[in-house]
Amino acid sequence: MKPGDFIDTYLRLDEENDFVLQQVPCPFLGVDNYCSIYDKRPKACREYPHTDRKDFHKISNITIRNTAVCPAAYNIVEEMKRRINN
Ligand code: SF4
Repeated sequence: MKPGDFIDTYLRLDEENDFVLQQVPCPFLGVDNYCSIYDKRPKACREYPHTDRKDFHKISNITIRNTAVCPAAYNIVEEMKRRINN
């Protein structure tokens, strides 16, 4: 599929002018709950929940939002809170 066709079919621009999926759940999530394009999944999927980024401290709003849906993000934030309080 050509990039332009992929954008037209699956993506839209959000309020921050970033491309995001048009639909939730992701159209590539299979009925078996596995990613049907795992080997070619987007960079954002490969790096999710982005907790190993050098600029991790700059995306704290995203991380806090992710704690509601991602156990890994939740546990990392809880551990950070525990270390701050010790
Ligand atoms: S890993 Fe990414 S592309 Fe694959 S199903 Fe999940 S959101 Fe979709």
